[in-house]
Amino acid sequence: MGAMECERRDCSNCCCEYLIQNMYVCSSCAEEFREAMSGVELPRSEMSEKFEEFMDTSVHKRYGMKIIDVDEFLGISKERSDGTW
Ligand SMILES: [Zn+2]
Repeated sequence: MGAMECERRDCSNCCCEYLIQNMYVCSSCAEEFREAMSGVELPRSEMSEKFEEFMDTSVHKRYGMKIIDVDEFLGISKERSDGTW
């Protein structure tokens, strides 16, 4: 039995506990997916699409969290050119 490395992008954890849709997943990635999907109810086919999407996201970027900058957070448009507030 060879090492079962996590198949998520950029994840090199070995000794995966989960085999989901023929992909090995380590417990920390499985837990992250579980957190991202908590409270979400989907048909199995859609959940598996979400899972495939998740496996394709970098382990360095938490799944389910949109990265925004402060301007977007405050709702400030960068294209504002009339100079008024
Ligand atoms: Zn992993």
